[in-house]
Amino acid sequence: MSRIQRLSPRLANQIAAGEVVERPASVVKEVLENSLDAGASRIEIDVEAAGSKLIRIRDNGAGIDSEDLPLALSRHATSKIVSLEDLECVGSLGFRGEALASIGSVSRLTLTSNPRDDSSEGCTALCEGRDMEVQLRPASHPRGTTVEVRDLFFNTPARRKFLRTEKTEFNHLEEVVKRLALSRFEVGFMLRHNGKVIHSLASANSVAERQRRVAAVCGPAFIEQALFIDVQRGDMRLWGWIGLPTFSRSQSDLQYFFVNGRVIRDKLVAHAVKQAYRDVLFHGRHSAFVLYLELDPTQVDVNVHPGKHEVRFRDSRAVHQCIFSGLHRALADVRPVSAQPTVATPEGLAVDTQTGEIARQPGLGWGAPAAYSPSSMPSLGQAREQVRSYAGLHPAALPASDTPEAVPPLGYALAQLKGIYILAENAEGLVLVDMHAAHERITYERLKAARALDVIPGQPLLVPEAIAVSEREVALVQDHADVFARLGLVVDVAGEESLMVRQIPVTLRGSDVAALVRDVLSDLAEYGSSDRIEAHMDEILSTMACHGSVRANRRLTVPEMNALLRDMEETERSGQCNHGRPTWTRMTLDELDKLFLRGR
Ligand code: ADP
Ligand code: MG
Repeated sequence: MSRIQRLSPRLANQIAAGEVVERPASVVKEVLENSLDAGASRIEIDVEAAGSKLIRIRDNGAGIDSEDLPLALSRHATSKIVSLEDLECVGSLGFRGEALASIGSVSRLTLTSNPRDDSSEGCTALCEGRDMEVQLRPASHPRGTTVEVRDLFFNTPARRKFLRTEKTEFNHLEEVVKRLALSRFEVGFMLRHNGKVIHSLASANSVAERQRRVAAVCGPAFIEQALFIDVQRGDMRLWGWIGLPTFSRSQSDLQYFFVNGRVIRDKLVAHAVKQAYRDVLFHGRHSAFVLYLELDPTQVDVNVHPGKHEVRFRDSRAVHQCIFSGLHRALADVRPVSAQPTVATPEGLAVDTQTGEIARQPGLGWGAPAAYSPSSMPSLGQAREQVRSYAGLHPAALPASDTPEAVPPLGYALAQLKGIYILAENAEGLVLVDMHAAHERITYERLKAARALDVIPGQPLLVPEAIAVSEREVALVQDHADVFARLGLVVDVAGEESLMVRQIPVTLRGSDVAALVRDVLSDLAEYGSSDRIEAHMDEILSTMACHGSVRANRRLTVPEMNALLRDMEETERSGQCNHGRPTWTRMTLDELDKLFLRGR
């Protein structure tokens, strides 16, 4: 071994850079965070060659005194904390004092700043050489700061080799800008790549403007099919937009979670969200959300990771519960509703500032499935008009009462199509219901409700039914007698390889008893010991619900169809079946008119 030597400042910084400066996107993240910490209200980002050639970020924040510029570029120098106590309740995005020093050690960096409103005279600093000495010279600059990072990794070829294609690197970089744009609605952002404007986001203050920004960042389809939630639990507040279960994604790429304005990826959060969506999402699909958790900063430790995208919650159970119950509640309300907002926004209703009218924007918690887009919802007046004109056409389709408000959200059944779909008419137009999917959800929710009361009520069979099974299945019945009892099933062992079913749940009257018991047995076999059953009880119930539901091709009478529609309106989560497929959709008169090119 050779003698111990002190690392040169540049080398020490380059080693530290390994943790925070992985690619151009990480530079953008650090520099943008500094601009936000400096209170900027407008930030412009210019990049060339996905940032590997140039990243220039200009803000109108507080600026840096020329005497402080050398310090800003040196390691372990920060204006954001002075003591350990500060760290306990840090409100800034940065605090480690190493980003600029790290970036400066692996690129050609210049920092130009002016802290004064009344002068356009600023100062530029660039650091050079192995000891990172800082050179200063005067420069004209309005109040604020510009950071210019050229030739990233020019002196660390090993790092440079790890960079991907320009497209991939730019995607990462754009993602960083999107996250920060979602974290600070009040700040205006402009992103240009190779001279072309990619995002131009004006500062967003009203609910409508915020929704516009979310639409610009996450795509308009998301906001059109999202619910707005805002829940308070103790001193925690959770608000934002959650995608309807029918707006699911093949990847978890539209999931943004902010804790006190800082974007994070957290297992606990992911778990709570997943659990909330468990019952309503199509298998293997991912939910979409933009959520903000606000809590006392002393309740969360952000100094867990150099990138600060991981946090530790002091009371993680309370956080889990807040997220789970907030989302679960909102998703449970996804059922056909009349045009009444079900969730209040923080500012109350979204009021159009221009006209003073209540804006009927999507995403404000109208509690409706995808196709029931509130943006196309007619006003009450229009709806009344429509109902009147309907009434003339199809008096039989309406209830005896002539008050239009009396038309329920899913309207009244007209007919059944191919034994699969119910056609109904409501105030807005045509409603189409997948009767099997809808009935399955209703049955499932009833079974769950009954389970919550501990035991699902059973009904003895007039003629007990014998089923031939394997010895292993007989053993399962013996081992899980308590589970069967709670499911409302009475199954006796009739022989080495036979069972006798004496009772089934009332709700499942008329279903295929043998198939039902076999499926429950296979669930039990798959999920193993009885203490794991609790967790999978819902899946078993879901399987049972499938058996008990009306099969396609069954003819229903009009009163039966109407009863199903009313049940759907009453049932939680009835906007989608147990597998996450939508249960109903509609076509408004307007849409039908468009289809038939009928001008009105
Ligand atoms: P940290 O953000 O952890 O403090 P940085 O290396 O990112 O460390 O920045 C060092 C210091 O430089 C900051 O504490 C801040 O005082 C100053 N600074 C950096 N960027 C800006 C900016 N855009 N506007 C004003 N001050 C800045
Ligand atoms: Mg910083």
